[in-house]
Amino acid sequence: MTAMFPPRNRKVRVLATLGPASSTPEMIEKLFAAGADAFRVNMSHGDQESKRPVIAAIRGLEKKLGRPTTILADLQGPKLRVGQFAEGRVLLETGQRFVLDQDPTPGDATRVRLPHKEIFAAAEDGARLLLDDGKMVLRVVEHDADRIVTEVVVGGTLSNNKGLNVPDMVLPLAALTEKDRSDMAFALDCGVDWIAMSFVQRPEDLAEGRKLIGGRAALLAKIEKPSAVQRLEEIVEGCDGVMVARGDLGVELPPESVPPLQKRIVETARRQGKPVVVATQMLESMITSPSPTRAEVSDVATAVYDGADAIMLSAESAAGAWPVESVTMMDSIATSVELDPGHGDRVHFTVTKPDPTTADALAEAAKGIAVTVSAKAMVCFTSSGSTARRLARERPSVPILVLTPEIDTARKLGLLWGVHAVHTRDVDSFEEMVGKAKRMALRHGIAGAGDSIIVCAGVPFKTPGSTNVLHVVRLMGDELKGYARGEA
Ligand code: PGA
Ligand code: MN
Repeated sequence: MTAMFPPRNRKVRVLATLGPASSTPEMIEKLFAAGADAFRVNMSHGDQESKRPVIAAIRGLEKKLGRPTTILADLQGPKLRVGQFAEGRVLLETGQRFVLDQDPTPGDATRVRLPHKEIFAAAEDGARLLLDDGKMVLRVVEHDADRIVTEVVVGGTLSNNKGLNVPDMVLPLAALTEKDRSDMAFALDCGVDWIAMSFVQRPEDLAEGRKLIGGRAALLAKIEKPSAVQRLEEIVEGCDGVMVARGDLGVELPPESVPPLQKRIVETARRQGKPVVVATQMLESMITSPSPTRAEVSDVATAVYDGADAIMLSAESAAGAWPVESVTMMDSIATSVELDPGHGDRVHFTVTKPDPTTADALAEAAKGIAVTVSAKAMVCFTSSGSTARRLARERPSVPILVLTPEIDTARKLGLLWGVHAVHTRDVDSFEEMVGKAKRMALRHGIAGAGDSIIVCAGVPFKTPGSTNVLHVVRLMGDELKGYARGEA
């Protein structure tokens, strides 16, 4: 794979959700050019077969640009949703009665199907049903085995398949529904790099997911349930990355509890060296408007100052009127924050003490050396990606150029802070390693003649998990002649 596309000028990654507004190869390429580093395919919307050409288009772009691309398939999980309406949507007036039942006939302003039997069994008088991320509130006034009569406490427009949260009920739901299992098998068959599990409640949920994935993709846990927050450390331990899923989190818990939780989840993930994505409503108003509110700009900036690995666009890029502008805006905000001289100190406010391993000791040292010798980049050789993860965990001041012979590793790393992964042949000797590091740094435009770079690798080569070499080299003018167009 030859590299054509230069590394981004920023460390935080942009994860863009694809959907009806952004599924053609042309749009996906535009989003990538605007700054999207990774793409989310949301299994909650549309059928499986509609995703296949989207995933193929992302891989097509990868081939065209010669740059590994990252695909995350997001499973719906045991998300509760209302059924569909004859007219697509209805207006619920505050104070009116509204019935949820099990009748598949399309709904109207008086009733709709609720396709989750568990809720009829668990309903209690007075319990709240929150619709569409809490925009509307219903309260149970009567219930039996197949009907729940509610009073509309907060009205609004309810449309097809909108989400439903029941913070006052405990539902015995499996972590992976039949649909999730089928969607996961489909996504793995399509070769996605990450699988995200929604509404994770327990570490065991992740163990189940991991077993089904069988090493074919990395596992991301979406933190959106109070029960997951309670066992955060264990949950982060049980996955490869996490998402601060603020949409459902802010419905299940009071919205004002989300900012402190965002800080805590980002910190926990960073300490464990797992990538963390901050998601939902980041530029919400850009679904319909070409420019965001100042508060949204500030929110994106906060996630960058928190040192999150990635910031995510949902409907802004998937279904809004301004998908490309949303990515451009996110890119601009992130770049602006990272240029702030105070950015580094704020990011390092979270202390990530190294584990007592050689790899961590070297990663920590590399961060310091980069500053001391004003190095331009770190270049890391890895097959599993673990060295890259340890380097990214340090949040160094310089970009991390990752060279890996494993395309799957290169793709997975697309969610990591500061990492630019390149799929390339392995090296066999120390001399080859140094030469290749210099060549690739030059070719990818992250260092030039006279610059120092820091090389990290494991010797003997081709032995995974053996990071034990840290080498500082300077790119000399004469030896670089011909490198730029040379062999990979
Ligand atoms: P969703 O997850 O977009 O799949 O609901 C993110 C969130 O809840 O914030
Ligand atoms: Mn969610």
